[in-house]
Amino acid sequence: MSLLADLRAALGDAAVLEGEAMGAKSSSDMSLTGTSPPRALLRPRTTEEVATALRLCNAAGVPVIAQGGMTGLAGGANPTGSEIAISLELIRGIEEVDTASATMVVKAGTPLEDCQRAAADAGLFLALDLGSRGSCTVGGNLSTNAGGIRVIRYGMAREQVLGLEAVLADGTVISSMNRMLKNNAGYDLKHLFIGSEGTLGLITRAVLRLHPPPGEITTMLCAVESYDHVVALLRRAQGTLGGIVAFEAMWRDYFQFNADALKLRFFEADHPFWVIIESTMAAGAIEAFLAAALEEGLIADALIAQSHAQSRQIWSVRDGHPIEALPNLLNFDVSLPIGAIGDYAVACTAALKQRWPEAHVSFYGHVGDSNVHICVSTLYRPGEDMHSVDDIVYGVLGRYHGSISAEHGIGTLKRPYLHLSRSPAELALMRTLKQALDPRGILNPGKVV
Ligand SMILES: Cc1cc2nc3c(=O)[nH]c(=O)nc-3n(C[C@H](O)[C@H](O)[C@H](O)COP(=O)(O)OP(=O)(O)OC[C@H]3O[C@@H](n4cnc5c(N)ncnc54)[C@H](O)[C@@H]3O)c2cc1C
Repeated sequence: MSLLADLRAALGDAAVLEGEAMGAKSSSDMSLTGTSPPRALLRPRTTEEVATALRLCNAAGVPVIAQGGMTGLAGGANPTGSEIAISLELIRGIEEVDTASATMVVKAGTPLEDCQRAAADAGLFLALDLGSRGSCTVGGNLSTNAGGIRVIRYGMAREQVLGLEAVLADGTVISSMNRMLKNNAGYDLKHLFIGSEGTLGLITRAVLRLHPPPGEITTMLCAVESYDHVVALLRRAQGTLGGIVAFEAMWRDYFQFNADALKLRFFEADHPFWVIIESTMAAGAIEAFLAAALEEGLIADALIAQSHAQSRQIWSVRDGHPIEALPNLLNFDVSLPIGAIGDYAVACTAALKQRWPEAHVSFYGHVGDSNVHICVSTLYRPGEDMHSVDDIVYGVLGRYHGSISAEHGIGTLKRPYLHLSRSPAELALMRTLKQALDPRGILNPGKVV
């Protein structure tokens, strides 16, 4: 294949891997749905090398997939066998932390955790935080517009970006490394690449916003009697408590399963909903807030974590590792108007149990961000496949005008359902953009649109 010879000549032998040298990681992201290794794996070290690789692949009409930390959960970085994968992991490092403008210039392959640490070392705070922080890369975070647990206070990945450098399919480098909060000089091009999952260009560098450190965070666990009370608690906490940095709800089946498996018991009584609230307010204000919420019946019980260890115990139930061991577990990441999430959970559970009465269906998530995760474990009958679960979960979601992806992206897994969340006109505009930026369709084909 002369393309690989050209790539070797341009990037060096060490940057072009084939066969077993590519390692298993390039075959599948953490959705574990990848079925094939890529045709070859490129490991460029600079933006210029990415540009050269794309120019050569585009000229040859060979499809390309960007790969970051491979922690994605939607199959977005998975090859089908015909593509050349470009790993951004060697394009890593923090170029600058500017404390005056509270910004960080970072290369796309840098693990998120390294950026968080560098910000903290400079006395600042990078607000993006996900469970995969040690392995995911900034490029992957931005291309999926990742969410995480601090969205309620700071917004999604998109809100943390001031500037971006990306390489187009033909190798053109778009350097839009803005460092200013206000810049209305024409179209804000960075948004083309944020959330487009490597289908419009490869992100190579970014300017990230930093914040003052939030201060001491207090973790509370509240027992709540209904979904309406969860929503009322959210609004009350936002209105009176201030400084909320997390608001996570867990439905009984999710909480109980994980707490039992982890042998953790926080209260004597069982309750239908459990809410974790984190706030930076002083202890007195937090106690007063909980006392008032208890008196008004917004919560049935509450505890304030007395140590980091107890806070971690509470979060371990939310992180839900025990539930991952259930057979045939499928995870969904959807969003709905906050007031509709409770009814959706009831309708979705009923529809799934009508088909599979033995199914284990549980809900948890970033309810304050209108985002809920669904865990479905069931035993399939002969001839059934997992798409029958997708059909029900997304079918019911359509009735509530929800979105099939809150934060994990579309990738391959949700592509057949995109029409449930986007109108024909929106889909047509997405295709127009794709055609304009990538006329030969080489960037991550088969993903998103
Ligand atoms: C334990 C765990 C917890 C998680 N928690 C969350 C969470 O709370 N919120 C959340 O949103 N996600 C979460 N995720 C999902 C995942 O970590 C995020 O989607 C993450 O942003 C992906 O980063 P990555 O570097 O691993 O990207 P990859 O998985 O390598 O790629 C993801 C997508 O981005 C594209 N891509 C990668 N790098 C680039 C680049 N430089 N330029 C252009 N396109 C690129 C790929 O082609 C693919 O489409 C979690 C995953 C795990 C395993």
